[in-house]
Amino acid sequence: MKAPAGVVTLKTPEQIAIMRRAGRVVAEMLRATREAVRPGISTAELDAIATKVLARSGARSNFLHYGQPPYPAVICTSVNDEIVHGIPTKKRVLREGDIVGIDAGAIIDGWHADAAITVPVGRVSPEAARLIEVTEQALRAGIAQTRPGKRLGDVGAAIQSLAESSGYSVVRQYGGHGIGRQMHEDGPFVPNWGDADRGLPIREGLTVAIEPMINIGGWDTRLLPDGWTVVTADGSLSAHFEHTVAVLRDGPEILTVPG
Ligand code: MG
Repeated sequence: MKAPAGVVTLKTPEQIAIMRRAGRVVAEMLRATREAVRPGISTAELDAIATKVLARSGARSNFLHYGQPPYPAVICTSVNDEIVHGIPTKKRVLREGDIVGIDAGAIIDGWHADAAITVPVGRVSPEAARLIEVTEQALRAGIAQTRPGKRLGDVGAAIQSLAESSGYSVVRQYGGHGIGRQMHEDGPFVPNWGDADRGLPIREGLTVAIEPMINIGGWDTRLLPDGWTVVTADGSLSAHFEHTVAVLRDGPEILTVPG
């Protein structure tokens, strides 16, 4: 998301318990769509699979009709140089060697969860496979810092140092976000870069979506005329992983995991 930092609301254990249920639905949306990824499938078919998971889980979509122009699907599918917010269509058929970012969200009883993975389509180049691996590692490194006593700068610094030491760049125009009663809360903004020991102190009850977007080339982005799809300005490959995380007294809990 793209937003300045605003009011940060801490959640109770009861509220986090509902977000955990929403997180399980998101994990199932990602599991089902990941399993379906293969050369020849369209991104609209992946969206249909995710829609069925929402329906049978009794959950609502937080992506559908979001924003302006109203977002038309329940997942985002971002292929190759598309960083985030790619719109699923019947025309976008995945091909051997592509990589596809799948971003999914769900609402249960008014509480939101949001997560993303990047998946290889068939056999991909070693360069693409390494980008996916490093981006997922960067998310894990960021989550490990998301604990009481740390600051948001520690999260961003961990992600940035892993990405840049691998020769990649971190997208700067977008980052993670507070999440709870809304998918994108007013605060905090969670940058995927920064200085250790700086920024908002992390406290018990904080719930954030952490989502590194990492490019093989430069970090600059461009918005396509559909008003949603964000691509790398230089056409290089990009990967994206995301989890919704709750800060408990003794450390982070990833909410977007299977039950
Ligand atoms: Mg997000």
